[in-house]
Amino acid sequence: MSLARGPEDMVCSARECENSATCAIIWSNPKIHTGRHKTWLACQDHRQFLVDYVGYRGFPVEVISLEELTEREGEHRGEAD
Ligand SMILES: [Zn+2]
Repeated sequence: MSLARGPEDMVCSARECENSATCAIIWSNPKIHTGRHKTWLACQDHRQFLVDYVGYRGFPVEVISLEELTEREGEHRGEAD
């Protein structure tokens, strides 16, 4: 299991899943991610699983296409982190 895998690999974020991602799940934990968000990638099989996983905890969650994810990352590129 690789913990170093990042969104740039475009592989599903579900544990032990090697499928290519088809969408991105943007979520945040308001208690620890103040003004920030986490990005998970999801294949068709795990999209609903991951949305439910986050939604169950009451965290804000949004599903976007990979194209939109790329656009958003482009917007943020160069900003101070
Ligand atoms: Zn998957």
